[in-house]
Amino acid sequence: MRHQDTFLDLAPKLSDRTAKTTCYMCACRCGINVHLKDGRVAYIEGNRDHPVNKGVLCAKGAAGIMQVTAPSRLRAPLRRVGPRGSGQFEEISWDEALETATAWMAPLRATAPEKLAFFTGRDQSQSLTGWWAQQFGTPNYAAHGGFCSVNMAAAGIYTMGGAFWEFGQPDWERTKLLLLFGVAEDHDSNPIKMGLGKLKERGARVIGINPIRTGYNAVADDWIAITPGTDGLLILSLIHCLLTAGKIDLDYLARYTNAPVLVNEDPASPEHGLFLRDDAGKPLVMDRATGKPMAFDAAGVKPDLAHGLRRAGITHRPVFQLLAERYLDPSYAPEAVAQRCGIPAARIHALAAELARVAFDEAIEIDQPWTDFRGERHEKMLGRPVAMHAMRGISAHSNGFQTARALHLLQILLGTVETPGGFRFKPPYPKPPEAHPKPHATATPGQPLKGPHLGYPMGPEHLALAPDGTPQRIDKAFSWENPLSPHGLMHMVIANAHAGDPYKIDTLFLYMANMAWNSSMSTGRVIEMLTDKDPETGEYVIPRIIYSDAYSSEMVAYADLILPDTTYLERHDCISLLDRPISEADAAADAIRWPVIEADRDVRGFQSVLIDLGAKLGLPGFVTPDGAPAFTDYADYITRHERRPGIGPLMGFRGDGDQTGRGAPHPDQLQRYIDNGGFFTHHIPQAAQYYKPWNTAYQDWAVELGLYDSPQPYIFNLYLEPLRRFQLAADGHGPHQPPDHLRERIRTMMDPLPIWYAPLGDDADTAQDFPLHALTQRPMAMYHSWGSQNAWLRQIHGHNPLYVPTNIWATHGFADGDWARLTSPHGSITVPVAHMAALNPNTVWTWNAIGKRKGAWALSEDAPEATKGFLLNHLIHELLPARGDGHRWSNSDPITGQAAWFDLRVRIEKVTAPAEVQPNFPALARPHGGTR
Ligand code: SF4
Repeated sequence: MRHQDTFLDLAPKLSDRTAKTTCYMCACRCGINVHLKDGRVAYIEGNRDHPVNKGVLCAKGAAGIMQVTAPSRLRAPLRRVGPRGSGQFEEISWDEALETATAWMAPLRATAPEKLAFFTGRDQSQSLTGWWAQQFGTPNYAAHGGFCSVNMAAAGIYTMGGAFWEFGQPDWERTKLLLLFGVAEDHDSNPIKMGLGKLKERGARVIGINPIRTGYNAVADDWIAITPGTDGLLILSLIHCLLTAGKIDLDYLARYTNAPVLVNEDPASPEHGLFLRDDAGKPLVMDRATGKPMAFDAAGVKPDLAHGLRRAGITHRPVFQLLAERYLDPSYAPEAVAQRCGIPAARIHALAAELARVAFDEAIEIDQPWTDFRGERHEKMLGRPVAMHAMRGISAHSNGFQTARALHLLQILLGTVETPGGFRFKPPYPKPPEAHPKPHATATPGQPLKGPHLGYPMGPEHLALAPDGTPQRIDKAFSWENPLSPHGLMHMVIANAHAGDPYKIDTLFLYMANMAWNSSMSTGRVIEMLTDKDPETGEYVIPRIIYSDAYSSEMVAYADLILPDTTYLERHDCISLLDRPISEADAAADAIRWPVIEADRDVRGFQSVLIDLGAKLGLPGFVTPDGAPAFTDYADYITRHERRPGIGPLMGFRGDGDQTGRGAPHPDQLQRYIDNGGFFTHHIPQAAQYYKPWNTAYQDWAVELGLYDSPQPYIFNLYLEPLRRFQLAADGHGPHQPPDHLRERIRTMMDPLPIWYAPLGDDADTAQDFPLHALTQRPMAMYHSWGSQNAWLRQIHGHNPLYVPTNIWATHGFADGDWARLTSPHGSITVPVAHMAALNPNTVWTWNAIGKRKGAWALSEDAPEATKGFLLNHLIHELLPARGDGHRWSNSDPITGQAAWFDLRVRIEKVTAPAEVQPNFPALARPHGGTR
């Protein structure tokens, strides 16, 4: 056949227009250029100018095109017409939907605002949703942090005024050694990948500490296959080694932490364990120059780590002495913890030696003068180039708060926080716990709450308790059961509402939270609770459920009223300094999303709907003095709302259009953001880039930007005095007393110095009957349940086997294609297995949220996600088994309430392969009808 020349267009025109906005295929919020052709998305690429991703785009981000065309998108407001769970709905108008919601909510506000419980999932508008709930007056509001990683956030903020991920980052440019504790592959996705790339280019070492070697751990230089739930013990052993070797940064500890602060050592004193303070309430330290006690922040003070003070017959000793005594104890020696952690003692010694070598022998200096909060000028910035990053792996345990505290203690003892090469805060952090609000939970009919719901208690007096001592919140956050629970306990809401404990509610209002499937413990029981009826009245026990989502997730079938949301390319969003911005360590940054395509369905952005509802309910701030709606929609709110005079959701282009941070609303602010690529960046001056909590230049910059109204330098809390206040209450001191059955637990677990204890429920009997740990991880290519319905991403992870380590695989005679029954103290599942060598020998695991319920997410009923995909959630109970005194504690961290997903214990047995995974639930009907 004769060769014919044909014209091949090697550079076809992809699009007729490009719109720059922010990705929402995971929570990293990268900048994207959306190429549009004939008004439709043709292609998505990374925005090279964007501070988060600098042009990098991951598989999820590229697959956004399939998210905005997904068959599972809800099309119109829906009213349930069949029984809950039947999936039978009728489409209604938005007017009818909003009138219905208003008719349900208005009487509650007028009589008992707490009967509305409003909880949101992984949305990024908590500044608005929290304010709305505050104006409504219900105490029952939180987002999903309680079942995600509140232990990380709370431990970070209480210890050092900032936390990992959104609030801080490794110093990617200067770090020489990075330790990753329990970091899976999705959270902080592109930024970590890019950061690891920088480290590899410079030859820096990365050590992964994780029972499972995938993702970041697979590209680490070294991997330590720790036994789940023992990270805190390993960390305290590292601290033991460093103290024994004298490899800690004493100068840093004396200047920037409460190591020199004097502690009351008299067991008979009602202030035993509290700080000695001056008349102004400032903690006192001994001054090395004068030998006298002085306020920790006094000009010229040289805090002394070695000497205490005897005053009025009471001995006071520096925190550092208490700390050294505790962790020098032989019970923390590597030889004492090795077996429990599953790590040879020699390896723990070697890791400690490596930390010390890099921190002290490879210290770095930057020629940058700066002045500290005591007025002392420093000619250089000294760095100890060891950085650490941690995520849910250490956090989602019932010992996760103290474990995360221990990790911060390790960082601080090495002098690696806010110093070159270490861990750096991102604005609006650092921000100490004292600068956060206290929780507000007293509902008054017809009135807003007196302040924000969520906050940082500093003692028992800040708990959210009714006069009779019962919890004021439906999730029991800020009660004696979970005193420091700054993200609430979303995983307890449905169980508590169903039990009427501490009281019954009327309306459950959920946004983007798949509580009838992968976001609940014990999914089958939660479904029963959502459908359970009061035998006397015949009404549902949880009478009304309103749900907003963009997709037909499993939760849709269990709601009475559906408010369909848009996809992320059809909406306005605000990634705000008031909330969870996209700042970097050397710059404050915020961003927007805006409608780059028009919705082709009768759907509305949830935030605009919330603003409408606020106006219809007449909530303060949502209506003008004459009762008219205060905002036309979310875009209008983003532009004109002021949280404090001159401070709004976005920092850029304020006032006359050239003001940053502070300034009156500017009418064209959103257009200016769009013209700027969808984001705004404000750099931190060179002299302010490190030592932020103590650096006067940073403090002044933060005040100028509006992050605070006055400088607020502080010292790190190695010793967390608020925990000691709870211990004192448990010992009978003070007017606020815990119930007797919780005294011992508070006394033991709320230790002001980090401790390790075995995960609750992990006793010898449980370990014998259920010898394996079971974990989940999120894969790099998926973000929770959003990704696993995406036509492109499903091809990467269409189902999820249970990964089994070599020893268990061989013992049970498993072969490829086999199935296993996995049994926990609460139930069994039957699932496919796969062999994995790079795994802790006592651990099995699977990918999270790949398994779907038949019929949900517009997938066909024989989709592998429904027939071979599964959840571990069926094996996890929201309550621990009854104890000797009959009480059942929540399966949560006893300090923060963090859901203890990763405490799960199981046993495994080989079984004949069933046709499908077990349990399997009846298929859900499509909410809009049809089969596709
Ligand atoms: S990392 Fe997350 S935000 Fe960034 S491109 Fe990927 S999915 Fe989008």
